[in-house]
Amino acid sequence: MKSSGFLRVGPFSTNTLIVMVAVYVALFANTALFNSAFNIYKGGVEEVLFTISLLPFVAAIFIVILAALCLRAAAKPILITFLLSSSVIAYFMNSYGVVVDADMLVNVLETDTGEARDLLSVALILYVLILGVVPSLFVYRAELNLPRLKTALTSRLKLVFASVATIVAVFFLFSGHYISMFREHKEIWYRANPIHAVYSAGKLVHDSVKFASLPHLVVGAHAKIPEWDTHRELVVMVVGETARADHFSLNGYARETNPRLQREGVINFPDFWSCGTSTAQSVPCMFSHYSRAEFDPEKANAADNALDILKRAGVSILWRDNNSSSKHVADRVEYEDFRTEKTNPFCDVECRDEGMLSGLQDYIDRHPVGDILIVLHQMGNHGPAYYRRYPPSFEKFTPVCKTNDLGACSKEEIVNAYDNAILYTDFFLSKVIELLKRNDKFETAMLYVSDHGESLGENGLYLHGLPYFLAPDAQKHVPFIMWFGRNFDPQSLSSIQAKRMEQLSHANIFSTLLGLFELQTAAYNPNTDILDHSNPAYF
Ligand SMILES: [Zn+2]
Repeated sequence: MKSSGFLRVGPFSTNTLIVMVAVYVALFANTALFNSAFNIYKGGVEEVLFTISLLPFVAAIFIVILAALCLRAAAKPILITFLLSSSVIAYFMNSYGVVVDADMLVNVLETDTGEARDLLSVALILYVLILGVVPSLFVYRAELNLPRLKTALTSRLKLVFASVATIVAVFFLFSGHYISMFREHKEIWYRANPIHAVYSAGKLVHDSVKFASLPHLVVGAHAKIPEWDTHRELVVMVVGETARADHFSLNGYARETNPRLQREGVINFPDFWSCGTSTAQSVPCMFSHYSRAEFDPEKANAADNALDILKRAGVSILWRDNNSSSKHVADRVEYEDFRTEKTNPFCDVECRDEGMLSGLQDYIDRHPVGDILIVLHQMGNHGPAYYRRYPPSFEKFTPVCKTNDLGACSKEEIVNAYDNAILYTDFFLSKVIELLKRNDKFETAMLYVSDHGESLGENGLYLHGLPYFLAPDAQKHVPFIMWFGRNFDPQSLSSIQAKRMEQLSHANIFSTLLGLFELQTAAYNPNTDILDHSNPAYF
């Protein structure tokens, strides 16, 4: 067969095309893998040779996988998907130091168009063009030899055999290093692109099938508010986004990022830790009765959370969301989206957190009996476009990074934009407190907690979402603040000054929420409740 037509290449056998694509991706889309191996296995010649050996090792693995999938007409679409997805993953790994695992994929799947627009950058387009589109065009225009089935099968088997032999040979040549990498430095292998992402996607599908068949688990079936509890509670819980504890002046940050909260006499918890490093993990986890070790988003989805239990006991619950969604936490309670001008009166370049307070007094007034819990899910400090997260009047720290391509900004500009967004959260929380003060016929309380922190360029890391064991404290150490109105039961606050210095986490929120409403249920654990209700004043 002769090549013909414009930009035709080839003819090649499908096997040749597979090898070309595998080597291209191994060589050009895996710099994060080589860098990470090189940084950990520093030292002699053998270490350098080991790092180099990763190239034939991953290329051979790609070939085995592609050889199994690229059958006849499926070959080109599969190779193109492989190239395009590797190019996108390479961009995120190289630019932000992230690892694409199951949690990250859930994040991606739940990312809406607004967040996706935040991530679009010139650098991303260049990555996709050079690592994805150009080689994909080559694959698309390649003329393929299609030999008879028997011949094709024999040569395919030879290719697989040679690749497996390469994998085994390379492994045994540097077995000490490979065993050490798979045992002690998994983080290197997590950067093998796109092997780890494909593995994680498979695991995700497997888990969702496994948990989809789970029956709904009722937690705290007979939860009730005791009869002696005749006063009414009004609690606002603010679920923050991407705020790190060490950028709050309440926690000793040198910059004044909490001027209003400092005036309000809030109770600050300096040693508070997140359940996960992503929204999709942390938000459902903090409302779930599962501990961090037991928690899985799919499993938690199939069980009642704190809101379900409180609702069953008669508490009126409203979730207002200016983030992407409640991550299924509010699936069974009243939910309002505030990312649209239809509900949110404070929208300029985007809808502001402040807008979630609009009409809230009406909601409270419309519920003349019983307790009320309002959850406000903030846009907060969602990155990388921190500069979009606050109105212009909050641009106190300058100059700011005005692009989502963090690599193009200085550390100072990134931190300035990030801190301005914290300052806006400080303002927002003071507005929540103002609302509660106007309603002090209730026992009022506010809880504020961030879902996870953020890396701001330390050690080349940006954003969040690293596997928990790998993630730096910046992604896990989060602000947690409580405020109580003047009618709040002083008995339950008696030990809070000692308690606030303890190491606490998202795992304490479930029982603290139930405890705030004096809920009687077997699901409540007094040991994890931050407040002490052991001597109720109203017996
Ligand atoms: Zn988040």
